[in-house]
This record gives sequence, C-alpha cells and structure tokens, in this order.
Amino acid sequence: MSGYDVIVIGGGLHGCSTALHLSQRGVRVLVVEKDHIGRHASGVNAGGVRQLGRHVAEIPLSVASMALWHRIGELVDDDCGFECHGQIKVAETEEELADGHARVAELRALGFSHEEVVDQAELRRLVPAIAPHCVGAVVSRGDGAAIPYRTTFAFKRKAESLGARFEEGSAVTRVARAGLNWRVKTAAGGRFEAPVLVNCAGAWANRIAAQLGEPVPLEVIAPMLMITARLPPFIKPVVGATGRTLSFKQFPNGTVLIGGGMLGRASPDENRTELDFTNLAINARTVWDLFPVMRSATVVRAWAGIEARMPDQIPVIGPSGTELGVFHAFGFSAHGFQLGPIVGRILADMITGNGTPLPISPFRIQRFHQPAVAA
Ligand SMILES: Cc1cc2nc3c(=O)[nH]c(=O)nc-3n(C[C@H](O)[C@H](O)[C@H](O)COP(=O)(O)OP(=O)(O)OC[C@H]3O[C@@H](n4cnc5c(N)ncnc54)[C@H](O)[C@@H]3O)c2cc1C
Repeated sequence: MSGYDVIVIGGGLHGCSTALHLSQRGVRVLVVEKDHIGRHASGVNAGGVRQLGRHVAEIPLSVASMALWHRIGELVDDDCGFECHGQIKVAETEEELADGHARVAELRALGFSHEEVVDQAELRRLVPAIAPHCVGAVVSRGDGAAIPYRTTFAFKRKAESLGARFEEGSAVTRVARAGLNWRVKTAAGGRFEAPVLVNCAGAWANRIAAQLGEPVPLEVIAPMLMITARLPPFIKPVVGATGRTLSFKQFPNGTVLIGGGMLGRASPDENRTELDFTNLAINARTVWDLFPVMRSATVVRAWAGIEARMPDQIPVIGPSGTELGVFHAFGFSAHGFQLGPIVGRILADMITGNGTPLPISPFRIQRFHQPAVAA
C-alpha cells in the first residue's frame, strides 16, 4: 500500500517519536512494528532520564532532549510520569571523587554545566539513606525519571492523533527499492511503499541495515532490573555509583527499582531473555553496601529487556551511507530512553530537508565502514 511519505520500522520510543515529529509537520507516516508498541526496550526499561555521565558526543543531544522532557506534556499531552529529583553518582573513595572532579572540569571546559561535584554533607542531605563510607558524588540536578511504557504509548497516541498509522504484529522481512519508493514486505504478507524509510528497529536494526548493504557490529544485550516490595519513602533522586554498576530509585508507591546494566542473556529470534542470577546477586550486593536500609527489603520480581549495543557505546543516528532516502536511529546501548524525544526531532529535521543544528556526525553509520588505518 502506498500513500505514505515515510515508513518507520520499529515501534519503540524512537520510532514513535520520529512518527510524532514528522506528523506534526504534516508528513504521512506509517510505523510497522513486529510485536506491539513498546514491547521491547522502550517499554521495559528503568525510565532513567539522565544527562549525568553521558559520553561527551551525546551530551548536546541529551541536553536538548532534557529541555523537551521538562515540557513533555506540551509535546505528547501526557506528563509521562516524569519527575525531576536529580540523578546522583556516589563516590565511595577519595579516588573516585577525584575522578568526578576531573570529569566535571572536562565538561566545564567544553561548555557544559549540568554536572557538579558535591561533598559528603550535601550527598547526605540529598540521600539521607546513603551508607556512611560514601565521600561525595557527582550530581545532575535537572535529571529525573519517567514511566517507560506510558511514555512510549503517549508518543504513539499523539502521533496517531496527528495522522500517523501504526501497523502492529507486522514483522518487516524485506526492504527493497521500487522505482523512487522503498518497498517494505512483512511476514504477514503486507506490502507498503514510501520514498523514505527509517530504521528504528532496536536490537534487530542490524538486520535491516544489512539488507541495505551496510552491516554494523551491533551486539544484542539483555540488561536486567529488579523491583522490591513497598518500603516507606526514603529517597527521591535516582542514584548510581561511580565505581560500580547501579541504577537505584524508589517509586511513589514505595517499591524500589534496582538496575544499572547488569546483563542476562538475550534470544532476539525468540523475543526471549533469561536472567543471570549471579549478576543479579552482584547488583543486590551493591545495594546492600550502599543502602543499609535495603538489607531487609524483598525483591519481588526481576526481568530483562532486549537492547542493541554498539562497540563504542553510542548510537547510530543519521542517513544511510549506501542508500538515498534511508535514515537510521538505533544502537542506543542501554541509555536511549532519555534521548527519545530529541532523536525523533532530529530525524524529522533531516527528513523534511532542514538538517539538524545538533552535532550528529559522531553517530554516522559510516564510522563502522571506514577502512582500518595501518598501525
Ligand atoms: C532493562 C533496561 C533498562 C534500561 N534503562 C534505561 C534508562 O534508565 N534510561 C535510558 O535512557 N535508557 C535505558 N535503557 C535503554 C532504552 O530502553 C533503549 O535505548 C531505548 O528504549 C531504545 O529504543 P528503540 O526505539 O531504539 O528500541 P526498541 O524499544 O527495542 O524498539 C525497537 C522496535 O523495533 C521492532 N522491530 C525490530 N525489527 C523489526 C522488524 N523487522 N519489523 C518490524 N518491527 C521491528 C521491535 O519489535 C521493537 O519494538 C534501558 C534498556 C533496558 C533493556
């Protein structure tokens, strides 16, 4: 079926955000999703909305996305459960704190002021429950957290209200040129055509890229999360650690979400993940050490999502290196939720021919195709 200007493959947050920003400009968009909207990483993540600790190349995008998060209701008619209580990376040693000072100085020199170092007294004021051995922290006060599935669905709903169409339960099996159009075939026998194709297929995006003659070294990973039974409220910010893997936050209902990137095992062909209990135990040990109040907490559930990780830990965003009329946004390497609002805008800017004012060259897909430089 034709009649579309753009076909987006993948109904995660990035696909839905792209559909929304394009629809706002009157572009006719079809999103093709093999399962259902928000079924994968975008719907099951930790909801961390963080500029803190980002790869330097991502910071301009992250800062621009944060501005959208702070007015998310205006964009999608839903506050997405976004709350801004800051994000904190605690330092357990003076050496870690010194690294924090160096990081903040580096960012200041580059013109970024969202991260700051706080001493032990301020850390204790922000997180009274933190273990006494923690010596300070790096803080980004404008950061926060949102509800992932609700967010992804809000983007979908708003895009739909502006005219975008969503074809769920339709796995794209083949993309090919058909004259000036791209033709997309689905496992269910669907055929769709449009002059522009956007690859937002998450952990499966390398399969689409390979069909376009630009294979990428995408690794499929399965970050895990645990949630506890309700506890009396004791913490507002999201807390991580400088020297260990951790993301820790308490929901308004008292339950505590524990994650940060410990990995299980992913089977992307079967849409399945398997928990790694050894890694979960390491995560739990970190919480035991940093939050004595958690020593009597009960973990009631754990899960993992399927996510795409690139070797340099930053995504692919931008036009195809091989084909005209194709754009990619994938490989968010376990921190793409916060970037969702801005990445859709960047793609819409590029597709509608205006270009983006944001520096996206570090995310070019061609970085994986340059010939190796002789030693
Ligand atoms: C457990 C966990 C915790 C995380 N915590 C955070 C966090 O706190 N903060 C943060 O910023 N990020 C976090 N992330 C990362 C974040 O969730 C992802 O980077 C982001 O959601 C990626 O969005 P996406 O739209 O690219 O991918 P997805 O949400 O995976 O969407 C891609 C979609 O494409 C569909 N698809 C694939 N192939 C096809 C095909 N052939 N045809 C049709 N459809 C197809 C898939 O079914 C899928 O729905 C976390 C991730 C996980 C798993």
